[in-house]
Amino acid sequence: MSEPYELPPDPLAGELDAFIESHELSARGRLLDREPAFPRREFESMGAAGWLGLTTPVSFGGRGLSIARAGVLLHRLAFRSGTTFAKLSLQPEFASVLHEVGSEALLDTWYRPLVAGRRLVGNQITEPGAGSDAQALQLAARRDPTGYSLSGEKTEVAFATEADAALVYGRVEGGETDGVTAFLVPQEGSGILRQVVGTDLGERWQRRGSVTYRHVHVPLESRLGEEGEGFSYVRAELTRERALLAAVYLGVARASWVDTVKHVGRRMAFGRPLSANQAVAFPLVDDEGDLAAGWLYVRQVLERLDRAEEVDAEAALAKSIATRVSLQALDHAIQFHGGRGYSNELPFEQRWRDVRSGSIAHGSSEIMHLVAARRLWSRRPAS
Ligand SMILES: Cc1cc2nc3c(=O)[nH]c(=O)nc-3n(C[C@H](O)[C@H](O)[C@H](O)COP(=O)(O)OP(=O)(O)OC[C@H]3O[C@@H](n4cnc5c(N)ncnc54)[C@H](O)[C@@H]3O)c2cc1C
Repeated sequence: MSEPYELPPDPLAGELDAFIESHELSARGRLLDREPAFPRREFESMGAAGWLGLTTPVSFGGRGLSIARAGVLLHRLAFRSGTTFAKLSLQPEFASVLHEVGSEALLDTWYRPLVAGRRLVGNQITEPGAGSDAQALQLAARRDPTGYSLSGEKTEVAFATEADAALVYGRVEGGETDGVTAFLVPQEGSGILRQVVGTDLGERWQRRGSVTYRHVHVPLESRLGEEGEGFSYVRAELTRERALLAAVYLGVARASWVDTVKHVGRRMAFGRPLSANQAVAFPLVDDEGDLAAGWLYVRQVLERLDRAEEVDAEAALAKSIATRVSLQALDHAIQFHGGRGYSNELPFEQRWRDVRSGSIAHGSSEIMHLVAARRLWSRRPAS
């Protein structure tokens, strides 16, 4: 049988494949599910080899690739090794607010080391009373003589106890604007209480939890950009990362679809291969079309991002579609591998659990629909 799927080509594909193989990323990603921990060793190796921050400019230690090329490589990384290291590769993109509005000193202390895999910088927006409705966040940033004093709680955040620093979003009290402001906060300071809460369904290596701030002093220089502008900075980042995450989910789903197509062509039941049954073959044919259509759409959004077009709605839709069709294909992979598919002997159940986060993190699927719907109707002439 011919290969049912060829990965999109890229000049860096061979180098990436060699890295994945030499660092045994596939096996490592599976181990991190069973023994959750932040993969510091691989983080450092990826930084040293240039696999963190694919779109980050070369002057900051990144690859300086277009967003579309980054999508192709992340798709490949997820295809070959699961979601873990593709998401790890994205950490500098998740800190683009630091990159774009951080001072030179902050860039040297935190952003360049992040791209080099030497310092981990998390993102803290969510609070007990503010998730989807992030605008409702309450963490207070009170002005003091040399900066701000932060008090409040962040929840659900990745790398709760592992991050060396975090982009923390708080509300400045008594300012001209009531808006939300971003700060770079080292996580070892006094007044910061961090804990991992619960065990996640998937992506366990992120060890999510809560971080509480009690009168934590943040110097003025650690404010990112202007007061009240926090969300205006993070909006563009969310759009880019949603489109790139869509490429990741489609990569791991496509790998599982390839394995399943091969498996059902070989596995015999009732004297013939499973693939001879339409009940098995037709869902896999549907998945082929859905994954391909999803990928074409995602590619288009990534290319439009490179042309600096405004694609908030399309990126939201790309993540929502990619998550849905990927989960469907992964469910079929579990189903058509039978009892072993349901077990962690095979990778599909973990992949399903990992991709399931895509319906909630970086904006839930319902919120992605709200973003897409808002744009759809606001484009039409008022009646
Ligand atoms: C794997 C993972 C990693 C994460 N990492 C981070 C991180 O690093 N930093 C961080 O700050 N946060 C992080 N989060 C938190 C994440 O951003 C929030 O969980 C998410 O925004 C949803 O917020 P919530 O959990 O409060 O759910 P809620 O806002 O309470 O929503 C619950 C449900 O209601 C739906 N809903 C809400 N409003 C509407 C509406 N108007 N219409 C229709 N449906 C609606 C939502 O879609 C969702 O299905 C992470 C979450 C996950 C799962």
